[in-house]
Amino acid sequence: MRKPVIAGNWKMYKSPKEAVAFVRELDAKLKDVKDREVLVCPPALAIPSVAEALSFSNIQVGAQDAHWENEGAYTGNLSPAMLKAAGAKTIILGHSEKRQYDAETDERINRKLKNVLKNGLRAIVCVGETLKERETGVTEGVIETQLKGCFSGIGLGDLASIIVAYEPVWAIGTGKNATPEQANEVHAFIRKWFATRYNQEAATALRIQYGGSVKPENIKQLMAQPEIDGALVGGASLKADSFEALVRF
Ligand code: PEP
Repeated sequence: MRKPVIAGNWKMYKSPKEAVAFVRELDAKLKDVKDREVLVCPPALAIPSVAEALSFSNIQVGAQDAHWENEGAYTGNLSPAMLKAAGAKTIILGHSEKRQYDAETDERINRKLKNVLKNGLRAIVCVGETLKERETGVTEGVIETQLKGCFSGIGLGDLASIIVAYEPVWAIGTGKNATPEQANEVHAFIRKWFATRYNQEAATALRIQYGGSVKPENIKQLMAQPEIDGALVGGASLKADSFEALVRF
């Protein structure tokens, strides 16, 4: 019922030239894939050339962040309107690396989310606990605080344009993935939160991706969990063979 969505977050890897060569290879490999959504999120500089290379492809193009304003004196930033004009249709917000290195907060993610939606784009909103938070048993409280902050003032009608990604910080780029059961448990908690905050129908329709050291070797078990609707993948999305294997889980 919920179409699986496999997304590659390329982080700060690949020049525009490398990115185009890579998506051409990927597109040729994934031409027959229709029963799942495939998305690549290159560094912003590569979005125009990647979007052009994929203009007749099923593979979608996204961005890794976007500002809460459409223009202004914000040195070094890009607005959703600019990213949309460049060819991005989905924006990742609240990635833990943005939270960790760029002081991203739930309040800022919320403002960014509102602007992404205002521009008619789709968002992937990332939440997740640190290792210390998991070990001290406060995972659900942390996720709930993040959801409350990120979704403040977001209406029921907007949920169709939102995907949530559960990405435990301790599993990102570390090679340590959450077990399928651990991930499923948090996904179920997130879905319950949406059912309470919005309604059961919207919560049932919402897609929740897992992210954190997803690889061809573990994606099948993760995707077999009832609450896991896709994957947000960093490292393993950077090689065509490995990304193809992830998409074909
Ligand atoms: C990510 O960048 O969102 C991610 C989950 O990275 P990795 O797959 O490398 O852990």
